[in-house]
Amino acid sequence: MKFCFKPFLFLICCMGFVASCNTKKEVTLVAEKNSITKPKNIILLVGDGMGLSQVSASQFYKNSKSNFERFPIIGLIKTSSASELITDSASSATAFASGIKTYNGALGVNLDTTSVKTIVEEISEIGISTGIISTSSITHATPAAFYTHTKKRSMAEDIASQLVTSEIDFFAGGGSDYFTNRKDNRDLILELEEKNFIMNLNSLPTGITTDFSKKQGYLLAPKGLPKILEGRGNFLSDATTLALNYLSTNENGFFLMIEGAQIDWGGHDNDADYLISELIDFDNTIGVVLDFAESNKETLVIVTADHETGGFTLGQENGDYNKIKPVFSTTGHSATMVPVFASGPNARLFGGIYENTAIYDKMKSLFFKNNEN
Ligand code: MG
Ligand code: ZN
Repeated sequence: MKFCFKPFLFLICCMGFVASCNTKKEVTLVAEKNSITKPKNIILLVGDGMGLSQVSASQFYKNSKSNFERFPIIGLIKTSSASELITDSASSATAFASGIKTYNGALGVNLDTTSVKTIVEEISEIGISTGIISTSSITHATPAAFYTHTKKRSMAEDIASQLVTSEIDFFAGGGSDYFTNRKDNRDLILELEEKNFIMNLNSLPTGITTDFSKKQGYLLAPKGLPKILEGRGNFLSDATTLALNYLSTNENGFFLMIEGAQIDWGGHDNDADYLISELIDFDNTIGVVLDFAESNKETLVIVTADHETGGFTLGQENGDYNKIKPVFSTTGHSATMVPVFASGPNARLFGGIYENTAIYDKMKSLFFKNNEN
């Protein structure tokens, strides 16, 4: 068709152009407004040993829709430590908590073993509440990196004593042995109670706790909590609900780290049933967190892993492409990048490929960002 210029068509085009400029301007303003939204709260969920195949297991083995599919922003992190290509949970948790690459086994200390501040210490100074939850002992590497400075992750009694003097306001996990059955005969439960904690070594309270004047500590097993396959029940989701009720009473905001610790243990055991059941439990907990964040609207949710464990993949069985056979390639960790999922104010910062230390950098910049810039 031959192009035919007519004045009225030109006029309509001009009007359209002006209108689209206005719409674009409005869209830009809305985008800018969203981009300066500072999250009041940040919840970091760590699936220990959770690579992409572990996440994919929720697609094939979970009865309901995977909560991972609710995230709008996806990224990948590189996990190597300062000392080794393949990290352990201690150095990678230190990357999340303190923003540094250190040696495998280190918790909150640099390569030369000097202490490096954790995000918990930094945000406590500006009045933000903090909590940690894990299905392992609370002194295990991943949760410990958020409150301790210890040369070796194996020093569990030392780590436990550092929880007493830390800024943590809420904790739930296992590890009571390291608090009550110690070589130095200290009773750390008593010491925590003297520090304004309500301590419980038996169970999570069933009703909603309304006494928010005290901090809360739950140590529900001598060491790690039982496997989900051996009757742990909804501990991870229930402890998360309890923590959200308590921490969200702080008008200054909160930081909560929630760990699905035993996804890693299933990987080390090359036990697919163990791994997948722990992954589904973690997925359910993500659902609890996202439901809270979606109604709260001021909460940034980040889900990631410290590393992959087991070289796990979902292969085919005997050439049948309709049968999935979970396969492992190692009983240790692997070097593959691990996914990051983000949702909420400024979630877009978590897209792309970057080092695990950037999780700390981004969280810190958001906590210390003021609303005007
Ligand atoms: Mg761990
Ligand atoms: Zn591991």
